[in-house]
Amino acid sequence: MANPLYDTLFGRRAGQDSAFLISPEGAVLTHAQFVRMAARFAHALRAAGLGVGDRLAVQLEKSPHMLAIYAACTQSGVIFLPLNTAYTGAEVAYFVENSGAKLFLCDRAREAELTPALAHTGARIETLDGAGKGRFADMAAGQPETFDTVDRAPDDLAAFLYTSGTTGRSKGAMMTHENLLSNAQTLVSEWRFSDKDVLLHALPIFHTHGLFVASNVMLLAGGAMLFLPKFDLEQVLRLLPQATTMMGVPTFYTRLLEDARFDRDLTAHMRLFISGSAPLLAETHKQFEARTGLRILERYGMTETNMITTNPYDGERRAGTVGPVLRGVELKITDPETGAQLPDGEIGSIEVRGPNVFKGYWKMPEKTAEELREDGFFITGDLGVRAADGYVTLVGRGKDLIITGGFNVYPKEVESVLDDQAGVLESAVIGVPHPDFGEGVVAILVPEDGIELDSNTIGAAAAKVLAKFKQPKAYVVMKALPRNAMGKVQKNLLRQDFADMFTAT
Ligand code: AMP
Repeated sequence: MANPLYDTLFGRRAGQDSAFLISPEGAVLTHAQFVRMAARFAHALRAAGLGVGDRLAVQLEKSPHMLAIYAACTQSGVIFLPLNTAYTGAEVAYFVENSGAKLFLCDRAREAELTPALAHTGARIETLDGAGKGRFADMAAGQPETFDTVDRAPDDLAAFLYTSGTTGRSKGAMMTHENLLSNAQTLVSEWRFSDKDVLLHALPIFHTHGLFVASNVMLLAGGAMLFLPKFDLEQVLRLLPQATTMMGVPTFYTRLLEDARFDRDLTAHMRLFISGSAPLLAETHKQFEARTGLRILERYGMTETNMITTNPYDGERRAGTVGPVLRGVELKITDPETGAQLPDGEIGSIEVRGPNVFKGYWKMPEKTAEELREDGFFITGDLGVRAADGYVTLVGRGKDLIITGGFNVYPKEVESVLDDQAGVLESAVIGVPHPDFGEGVVAILVPEDGIELDSNTIGAAAAKVLAKFKQPKAYVVMKALPRNAMGKVQKNLLRQDFADMFTAT
């Protein structure tokens, strides 16, 4: 095959009149229509002057058209660069400039605001909105419905996904055709996807979870997606009976569980719920099973590596763990200081190697060299431990590790204890500067609805199970934790907010 990613995900469906994307209102786009739409966009990209290896940056509302632009890039050898819709003009300008994108597509509604912000980048700006209208749609409208697929080798670049950049500048992770195809193939087989599946898709498609995990898996399997613009509880409850599977971040599941209509009947014919991108509380896992009779399958991955581990489809889905490493991927736990491999049962840095691992950060050779070893192992930045039977448990990001009085405190361990206390819905444990200990442990608690928490009682309970150095030195009660679009708790914001807690005079 000349372009395995395009041919396998898109090209072979060109003659297929089966449903591919179903809107919340029930409008159906078939596989064949989608492939034709992508071909017209590929012509429009060429007409706009984009050749093989050029970058296309897009900041678009989630829509079938945006997904077809991804397909068009794959077919024409253009590198696809999707951006979070929440990014401001200044942020977008950084990505466009850093990537050297020749063309930028945005919503018609944002053009006036973004044009001056991008003026200095020299990129051409065209428009495309969620309904598929705009100048770029006009450029594609009269184009042929087939496009001569460009040859691509496995190592050629397919997409840049910029990391969220919570510390320092965001980095463009270069994803190859092989990275994307190999991971999709593994996941379809691990999770038993087929053309009979209908996936409820409520994730954004500017991020690896909704784009490469969910969409590539469904494209490869040949099934359909109920394509929701975003997670809307009413819509999800209404459409679930039409689906067989769903992928989500943990907050999707906690929000569903808060609604009494989410029950066994509603999920009767669902075969699989998958969770990832942020930790799923063991409690959520338990509640979900009690309510639906189904066990959520939790997996772990990241932008730079696609998916790394998964709990098994058949076999034990162990709450609080992310399961064993995927077939074809190598994972080792290493000493964060020396890089030496650690035995099972010891906490260390998670490193990963395989066809799923990205090629490096665009134009950042030093950053690449810091995180991607010469032997191909990528230092994920996550800390974890592997049990003798292969199940991996994450204990937090390396940068979230707290060092207090010379001792390491893994936030997850403390959070698990706090989450178990009556009245605590969830918690976040951070380290902030402390005059005596270097860092002091701070716990942020979110109470269950209508509960007033007494931090003395919680502190006393924590003292029974945690060594003194792990016990929080201060408690803060908040209504909710700050989260990003993927449901990840933004500990960097909490650290900023409470930075002076122990040092203020
Ligand atoms: P991103 O690159 O935005 O996909 O973020 C990747 C990070 O999300 C990983 O390095 C982990 O820290 C976190 N993550 C992904 N899946 C899980 C999971 N199942 N449990 C806990 N953290 C996760």
